[in-house]
Parts: sequence; C-alpha cells; structure tokens
Amino acid sequence: MNRTVYVNGDYLPEDQAKVSVFDRAFLMADGVYEVTSVLGGKLIDFPGHLARLQRSLDALEIGNPHSDDDWLAIHREMVARNDLEDGMIYLQVSRGNPGDRDFAYPPADTPPTVVLFTQSKPGLADSAQAKTGMKVVTIPDIRWGRRDIKTVQLLYPSMGKMMAKKAGADDAWMVEDELVTEGTSNNAYIVKGGKIITRGLSTDILHGITRAAVLRFAREAQMEVEERPFTVEEAQSADEAFITSASAFVMPVVEIDGRALGEGKPGPVATRLREIYLDESRKAAI
Ligand code: PMP
Repeated sequence: MNRTVYVNGDYLPEDQAKVSVFDRAFLMADGVYEVTSVLGGKLIDFPGHLARLQRSLDALEIGNPHSDDDWLAIHREMVARNDLEDGMIYLQVSRGNPGDRDFAYPPADTPPTVVLFTQSKPGLADSAQAKTGMKVVTIPDIRWGRRDIKTVQLLYPSMGKMMAKKAGADDAWMVEDELVTEGTSNNAYIVKGGKIITRGLSTDILHGITRAAVLRFAREAQMEVEERPFTVEEAQSADEAFITSASAFVMPVVEIDGRALGEGKPGPVATRLREIYLDESRKAAI
C-alpha cells in the first residue's frame, strides 16, 4: 500500500511516517483515537466523533491540538490525497514525546503527537455479513474502569477478538457481574417483543457515536428503546441481537455462545435499523 499518512502537520508516504520510540502512546498507551467512516468520499457522523475526541482528551488532560474546522480540513485532505471513496479514517492523538520515559506526565506544553491514516474498504456499506449476521461468544470483561475514554490500550479487545476466532465466532461480547457490557469494538443490543434493549451510558462502556445516532433514529421511528443491562441468558432467548460501530454500522448477531437466536438469521429490527442508519447518515455526511 502507498497511503498518505498525516504526522504532526505533514502529509507523508506511509513508509516515511514515523513517531518517536519515546512517544507516550508507545510506552504507556497514553493516547486516544477516533475512527470515522467514509462513504462516497464523505465523512459519516463526524461532529459526534469530534465531540467524543474532545471528551477523551479532557479526561486525560491532553490539550486538543486543533479546532473542529482544522480537524475537518485535515480529514478532507486525507480523503482527497488517498482517493478514499469508502473506508475509515483513524485519528490518533497521544501525549507526545517527552524525550525520556517517566510515569509522571510531561510538562503541559509538550506537543501531542497527531497521526491520521486511512483504510480503504470498497463497498463498506454492502458487507456480506449484514446478510448472514455474525456469531459472538462471551468472555469476561477484565478491562480497566474508564472504558468511556477511547484510549489506544486495545490489547484486551484484541485478545477477545482472537478468543472469538479460536471459538469459530466473529466477535466477543464482554460480560461483567453476569451482565453484558459491550463487544470488543462495538456496542451490544438485544431485541425482545419489538423492544430494543442496550446498556445505559456509564464509565463501563464506550459511548458509541453510532449508538447515539441509532437510538435517536429508532425513537424517531416509534421503536421502543430501553437502556439497561442484560444477561447472557436474556440475550440468548431474545428475538434478535445486533451491534453498532462506526465501521460496521448496524450488524445483526445471529448466534451467542453457540445458541442461535430466532431463526438464526438477521432479524427485522436490526435490518431496518441498518437501512435507516445508512440512509440518514449518508444524507448528513459532510
Ligand atoms: N465500544 C467499543 C469498545 C469500541 O471500541 C467501539 C468502536 N470504537 C464502540 C463501542 C462503538 O463506537 P462507535 O459507534 O463510536 O464506533
């Protein structure tokens, strides 16, 4: 691949894009990120991603290096320079390079490291998996207590994905105190008697930007939404299940820990929500 990568103000060929070995993200996972989908060359749900970036940076006391207008301009430049039609833009901001390793934060005037890169996914919105649905297994949620901050410490989600693969599934749902928190890289939902049930917002889960939009569209379409945690057993006896994320949009789940939901096919609520989300967010794309 020969992508153009953004590093601290420069647009570089990917093999020349480099950060320091002393970067806090490398040494301490001291950084945050955002992922914005691109469909037809336009950014999906972009204001939401910028708002969450600010929230994550504030939680870690890292200064936001750019205004919203600058972030938009950089994202658009990345779309243009990479001829990105469908895919994702990853944006990473770390606490920067203090020049040495130390647990204490470096002085506040240490410039953050800013990296953006793209992943091209032609036909991102026409995924084959949306037609068949995905299988999930459950694993214990042993992540830290501030899952609402979108940090780059993705080791356990990555391990979870491997546990799922080894078990012949597509992804894992994490469980704490017998209640499902979320998927390795997505928010989790079940549908029972037409009602959409998903865990409420707290420090236990990432506040998904896709979640916020999907719940808004669901309520606008007069669907009933209940924000509360659910158990694995309740999920296995639900009529349907699905996940949401910026890159998967709304994706049906058809099996949980080897138990098929309903007829083992994507259900009508997940299918409808995927259509509504894709239609509405394409209209609002910038
Ligand atoms: N939860 C976790 C743990 C995630 O990593 C993600 C995706 N980054 C989500 C939920 C979904 O968030 P969003 O809809 O903003 O992509």
